[in-house]
Amino acid sequence: MSTVIYPSPIYGPVHSRRLGLSLGVNLMPADGKVCTFDCIYCECGYNKDHTPHAKRPTREEVAQALEETLVKMQKDGQVPDVITFAGNGEPTGHPDFPDIIDDTLRIRDQYCPKAKVSVLSNSTFTNQPLVHAALMRVDNNILKLDTIDPDYIRRVDRPVSPHYDVKKIIEQLAAFSGHCIIQTMFLKGKGADGSDVDNTSDEYVQPWIRALIKIQPREVMIYTIDRETPDRELQKASHEELDRIAREVRANGFLCQVSY
Ligand code: SF4
Repeated sequence: MSTVIYPSPIYGPVHSRRLGLSLGVNLMPADGKVCTFDCIYCECGYNKDHTPHAKRPTREEVAQALEETLVKMQKDGQVPDVITFAGNGEPTGHPDFPDIIDDTLRIRDQYCPKAKVSVLSNSTFTNQPLVHAALMRVDNNILKLDTIDPDYIRRVDRPVSPHYDVKKIIEQLAAFSGHCIIQTMFLKGKGADGSDVDNTSDEYVQPWIRALIKIQPREVMIYTIDRETPDRELQKASHEELDRIAREVRANGFLCQVSY
């Protein structure tokens, strides 16, 4: 098993642990990764090892490919549970992301009105008004917040911009007024620099829960690594650890979904 670069602009459908039968939309080039983070657990690998040469798909290419795939799925008797924006990097970084969301909602309504539209994002563009507004229009606005510890973020999520400020990100997540799902990776083991990356202890969990209370998401998804990661020293958080964290999240009044 190795890290994976997804086809673009459409891949799957794949069965997702969290989302059901998911048709993927990848707004990044088909031959590499473009992300504002460079997570040491990224299933696509490190940014430096996957510099793309192709261009991102255009708005028109995305709409056409999505429609063609849904027509084919319809002929095969398949209906997606969800159309998921994910893939090789950060979807909201596509310059036409807001218009692509509008196209997708229209096409979804035409071919599979019961399917949800989900966006998996690392939250770094949520300060942009048009991105915020587009995320308010999707069914599942799934935003990453692995911890609120700046040093941990620097070592594990590794934002590309030196100006990443988790306090501002928390304010931006709270601005969704509950129309968001917070997604958090829990893991253990050693980072690329040899440091401990265990974020399952109270030192990390309690401040993160205080941030959830500020954000008031409609749901929290916690998970651990499931596929090969570029950093080979990482380990899964155990069932017991994830269950304990989920109990604490629920005790604070939030729905919490766990993927082991
Ligand atoms: S935010 Fe997602 S796509 Fe970007 S590096 Fe992290 S895991 Fe990979």
